Amino acid sequence: MAADPLAGLREAAPQLALLTDPAECCAYGFDNSRRARQPLAVALAENATQVQAVVRWCAAQGRPLTVRGRGTNTVGATVPLEGGVVLSLERMQRVLEYRPADRYIRVEAGALNAQVQEVAAEDGLFWPPDPTSAAYSSIGGNLGCNAGGPRAVRYGTCRDNILGLSAVLGDGSLIRVGSRTTKGVVGLDLTRLLVGSEGTLGIITEATLLLRPLPPARTAVRAQFDSVASAAQAVSALLAGAEGPAVCEFLDNRAVGLIREDVALAPDCQAILLLECHAPASLSDEILEGWRGACGPGLRGWDSGRGEEAAAVWAARKALSPRLRSLAPDKTNEDVVVPVSRIPELVAGVAALSERHGIPIVCFGHAGNGNLHVNLMHDRANPAQAAEHDACLEGVFALTLELGGSLSGEHGVGLAKRDHVGLELDAATLAAMHAVKRALDPAGILNPDKGLPPPD
Ligand SMILES: Cc1cc2nc3c(=O)[nH]c(=O)nc-3n(C[C@H](O)[C@H](O)[C@H](O)COP(=O)(O)OP(=O)(O)OC[C@H]3O[C@@H](n4cnc5c(N)ncnc54)[C@H](O)[C@@H]3O)c2cc1C
Repeated sequence: MAADPLAGLREAAPQLALLTDPAECCAYGFDNSRRARQPLAVALAENATQVQAVVRWCAAQGRPLTVRGRGTNTVGATVPLEGGVVLSLERMQRVLEYRPADRYIRVEAGALNAQVQEVAAEDGLFWPPDPTSAAYSSIGGNLGCNAGGPRAVRYGTCRDNILGLSAVLGDGSLIRVGSRTTKGVVGLDLTRLLVGSEGTLGIITEATLLLRPLPPARTAVRAQFDSVASAAQAVSALLAGAEGPAVCEFLDNRAVGLIREDVALAPDCQAILLLECHAPASLSDEILEGWRGACGPGLRGWDSGRGEEAAAVWAARKALSPRLRSLAPDKTNEDVVVPVSRIPELVAGVAALSERHGIPIVCFGHAGNGNLHVNLMHDRANPAQAAEHDACLEGVFALTLELGGSLSGEHGVGLAKRDHVGLELDAATLAAMHAVKRALDPAGILNPDKGLPPPD
């Protein structure tokens, strides 16, 4: 009988649940990027000690280790490219400490975003990061990608809403960084270094999250514009005001075309902004009047409401995703980000690239942060179209960087964008990042091949 390759791990952590049946492991080998690889085994850790045991064993054996939350990332960040062990934290979901008066909650990394929101809401609090996947994505995964969502305009992303964390580094040591306070400057800020590192520097086992009071009211607005340029210009004007929107989402003309059948819109509507005002109801009318003025002469429709009416306003955004697939079988969803004032140039440049390459592109997303989802619709099975798609994508990246932007605002790099990172970061910067990686993960086992191009 063949020797059990995991014998040493079983001995080091006898209580650790391990999956080795290829059929069971298969479900942990893919993510929302639609890429997949088969891992050797899946470890379902229940505590930090078990996480340490897995890391130490992988380091000693030189086995790659891919930590996974719920696999909802879109960039292949949890695909075990070289096999090895997938470490799932789905069994680490406990709330460890909750102090509403101090506005923090400490949870295990496998807790779901929605679970945190549910606990905090009982005391009128919330954790600001709100990826659309919040109902089924984990805190560890949110932190791993530095996730954000529509509310990031007002409250920032994960990095802006974390106080501290515990993590297991590549040599198996457990570190505790940050604090339970909103101020604290002791030591290096490894908390924010680990956030956004896609499981390549350490495995976060628990996190202390900063909670904020729920807004006293939420008024949603759907502003319709006669052109993409008018809407894009309105974004800058709206955000320049002292009482800017807490949410500012954008839909371009193609997106508007897709949802016309589902939502009643002005005949000459070519672009939409979805806004949210979080001021008390007594103040919001005056604020909304100011926004309406800031939208400029291209404004063609203005609907606003609270409660159920707000849900109707958001129907425009919800109708979009299912409609997208009607354009082409394949979709490349990039999430480039530019300074807000450059959005008009980004949208115009993307439209020109779409025309030049014959690739339909639908743009929508978090315009308040300059972060647009640029969806290149194509048919990968058609070689000529696949080639035009690739050239068009290169064009989108070049344009983004020319405008002073960055290749990813929230989805991360993973495998999907790893080979493009060198377009944005120079050799000296990349060398410094590789040095950090070597220091925290000397055996190079933690999520190898992700986030950074290989060192020269
Ligand atoms: C429908 C849909 C909507 C989405 N909307 C948004 C959005 O609005 N905003 C947004 O930012 N993203 C969005 N996403 C992308 C994705 O949901 C987020 O990136 C989310 O944070 C991933 O969480 P997860 O638990 O699925 O993590 P996974 O996909 O499992 O992992 C993500 C990354 O984090 C690492 N990781 C996981 N756990 C840990 C840990 N404990 N310690 C260290 N690293 C870890 C992984 O190795 C990987 O690199 C969306 C995805 C879907 C499917």
